Amino acid sequence: MFVVMTVGASEAEILGVKSQILAEGLTPFDHVGAGGTTIAVVGEIGSRKPALLERFEGLPGVASVTPISRPFKLTSREFHPEDTVIRVLDAVIGDGSLTMMAGPCSVESREQLFETADAVKAAGATILRGGAFKPRTSPYAFQGLGIQGLRFLAEARERTGLPVITEVMEPSQVDIVAEYADILQIGTRNMQNYSLLRDVGRVARPVMLKRGYGATIEEWLMAAEYIVSSGNPNVILCERGIRTFETYTRNTFDLAAVPLLDRLTHLPVIVDPSHATGKRWLVKPLALGGIAVGADGVMVEVHPRPDEALSDAEQQLTLEQFRDMMDAIVPLHAYVRGVYAGTS
Ligand code: PEP
Ligand code: MN
Repeated sequence: MFVVMTVGASEAEILGVKSQILAEGLTPFDHVGAGGTTIAVVGEIGSRKPALLERFEGLPGVASVTPISRPFKLTSREFHPEDTVIRVLDAVIGDGSLTMMAGPCSVESREQLFETADAVKAAGATILRGGAFKPRTSPYAFQGLGIQGLRFLAEARERTGLPVITEVMEPSQVDIVAEYADILQIGTRNMQNYSLLRDVGRVARPVMLKRGYGATIEEWLMAAEYIVSSGNPNVILCERGIRTFETYTRNTFDLAAVPLLDRLTHLPVIVDPSHATGKRWLVKPLALGGIAVGADGVMVEVHPRPDEALSDAEQQLTLEQFRDMMDAIVPLHAYVRGVYAGTS
């Protein structure tokens, strides 16, 4: 449930409500918005609901108490009506500007990363991606350069000024990845790895949570809820396709998720047409599709010589293809911004 405080509620009244919530063995989270303070009450409320509603309603400074039936609370629009805006170095995500995350599937060498980083930066990318720890379906496939890959990413950030995003696969890697990277990525295979979600919830770095390939939107938001309720409000959602009976594409790109999430949550949404399709020639049209339905940005894989790539060779764009895609996305994004202005 959400306890909505009156606009002029004092600090002491807010603390009073929070201590009552804590005394019930529940946890208060407050959000200060344009309309004053709202306190989300999270925890196992069960059959105490009617009694607690009545009691909290009678506390000083309380305007109203709203029961909330959605299982996700802190990530919901109801709790936090304004969009979450995330700032990392010079990049801003979720403020209506275009976020373009680009770079190789895997960091393969310093030269490969630098060549890609320079080219995507020149073409307008705002964030550099690159996998150092790679989740591969085959244990025999290239597993990534690990910590050496993280060092190359940090060097590429120094060189280009672009913040870097990379995947963290295990709780034991969280600290080291957070030391080198600006944004931590949770991959599709780990979306419901709850100990990993809790651990990235405790670090001072934004987290991009990719949708599990078999996850519903509600399960995805519940995964985001793990991170936010562990203390990290800076979560970005990334639609990267789900598995269906279709085999022409690697996954099925769920475009409807984008406007749906805009209604359900305040968190920014990025689309990844590279992993969604698995085919280079499908990346541009679906990136445009993601922007058309209102995504905050796009993540794509780019490689100087995709055919030589050590992972995801078929879906990585050439540097030229990335420039060509940017030429189409930038004006489309500007147009779409005008179309959606004032609607939500
Ligand atoms: C990636 O972006 O490097 C990746 C492995 O993606 P996903 O987890 O969506 O498959
Ligand atoms: Mn990949």
